[in-house]
Amino acid sequence: METLTIGAFAKACRLSPKALRLYDELELLRPARVDPDTGYRYYAAGQLERARLVAWLRRLGMPLASIREVCELQERDPAAAAAEIRAYWARVEAETAVRRDLAAFLVGHLSAPLREDTAMLELRYAARSDRGRTRPANQDAAYAGRRLLAVADGYGPRGEGASGAAVRALAALDGADVPDGGVLGLLEDAVRDASRAVREAAGGGEAGTTLTAMLWTGSALALAHIGDSRAYVLRDGGLFRITHDHTLVQSLLDEGRLTPQEAESHPQRFLLLKALSGDADPLPDLRLHEARPGDRYLLCSDGLSVTVPDDRVRRLLMEAASPDDAVRALTDAANEAGGPDNVSCVVADVVGRAAI
Ligand code: MG
Repeated sequence: METLTIGAFAKACRLSPKALRLYDELELLRPARVDPDTGYRYYAAGQLERARLVAWLRRLGMPLASIREVCELQERDPAAAAAEIRAYWARVEAETAVRRDLAAFLVGHLSAPLREDTAMLELRYAARSDRGRTRPANQDAAYAGRRLLAVADGYGPRGEGASGAAVRALAALDGADVPDGGVLGLLEDAVRDASRAVREAAGGGEAGTTLTAMLWTGSALALAHIGDSRAYVLRDGGLFRITHDHTLVQSLLDEGRLTPQEAESHPQRFLLLKALSGDADPLPDLRLHEARPGDRYLLCSDGLSVTVPDDRVRRLLMEAASPDDAVRALTDAANEAGGPDNVSCVVADVVGRAAI
């Protein structure tokens, strides 16, 4: 067996001797032989491939525990190792997107703390929630006010109580003074209150709700999101989704294990990975979204997003003269398409404040 000294091996795989000693201790990459007298480590040429993989994954920023998993998979099933790397990268991108928004918001906030253009903005809003054509009750809840927009889609025997309790708990923010700096903390606390309210509403039974809410700061919208209700913005004629579904199907899509076509008919396509179900620590997605005059925001339950195709939603939002017209047109469209689920829509326009 051809063996290499640790120095030669380190050079060939571009890992430092110090890193190689660490990986030996962690059992990530054991030397082929350790001289019992000198303690020198020797590596086999055949180990180079694994060492190079470790070096690349380190460069990618992958934690050592995950690297070990990928290396072990790679020996048995390279396709599974590739899927693991894809899944890791999807998580990095999701985390980066949240940090990017926060950074952009802070840059804007600190470079122009007294922007007069945005100081003169406000929301025009409307909300509508409808039972649909087939469900016996409406377990959705929707709210729109001067500062707060929210939709919730309850499930379980007391789902109606759960969604209503969550939205009512958040509605307390509508009258609050919202400082730009502390808005995400404020929203996070409110979601925790909402979770407590859901637990009480469930009365010990199985019930929970999705919750997608936006809180207006005067120049930005702070988003809290958990579940598969959605938020979109219509900007310059394009419809952009702001939220990420917390569903099994979405996570399989992110990891490249499912195509969008397969997702549409997946038997577990409604399975939620996260929802507001009374946990003390509900872990919603929280982010800041910078608003522009002319933006039109849509929050909706899956009774709209599953039933009415995105392009139709975009056109209806474009054509509606006011938020009121928009929520009416969207809920009508869901019902015309069969109304298979409860449907809730909140629409808000960012407009210049009317002169007094
Ligand atoms: Mg629904």
